[in-house]
Amino acid sequence: MDNCIFCKIIKGEIPSYTIYEDSKVKAFLDVNPNSNGHVLVVPKEHVRTIFEIDPILLKDMISTINEKIYPLLKERLSIEGLTIIQNNLLGQEVPHFHIHLIPRYQEDGIKTIFDKSKIKDVKEIYEKLK
Ligand code: 5GP
Ligand code: ZN
Repeated sequence: MDNCIFCKIIKGEIPSYTIYEDSKVKAFLDVNPNSNGHVLVVPKEHVRTIFEIDPILLKDMISTINEKIYPLLKERLSIEGLTIIQNNLLGQEVPHFHIHLIPRYQEDGIKTIFDKSKIKDVKEIYEKLK
C-alpha cells in the first residue's frame, strides 16, 4: 500500500533492523523500543487490523513467534519474559497490522504496560456483555 511505512520497510525502501523474514512475515526492531529487543512482527500483505487478517496467516505468525523469534530472543538476549501487545484502530500509530514483542527482564523497571486509571466497574461491564 502506498504511503504505508511498514509496506515501505517490507519492500526495503526504508531501512530496518530485520531479525527474521520469510515469504509471508517480517520481524524487525522497533525504532523506539519499550525494552531491549522490542520486535514488531508484520505480515507482508497490507491489512490494517486483526479483524481483516487471514486467520491462517495469523496462526503462521504466532508459530513464527513461538518457534523462531522467541527462541532467538531467549538465546541471544537472555530475556526472562515476553509481553505481547497488538493495537487496533485507536492507539494504533501505524495502520499496518503488527504484533509487538516486548522482552521482559528482571529489574527492567516496567511496572505495567497498561494504563488502568479509568476502568469502570467490572460488574457493570459484565452486565453489558453477558
Ligand atoms: P502502534 O502504536 O501502531 O501499535 O505501534 C507502532 C510502533 O511502530 C511504535 O512502537 C513505533 O516506535 C514503531 N515505528 C514507527 N515508525 C517506525 C519505523 O519507521 N521503523 C521502525 N522500526 N519502527 C517504527
Ligand atoms: Zn502496509
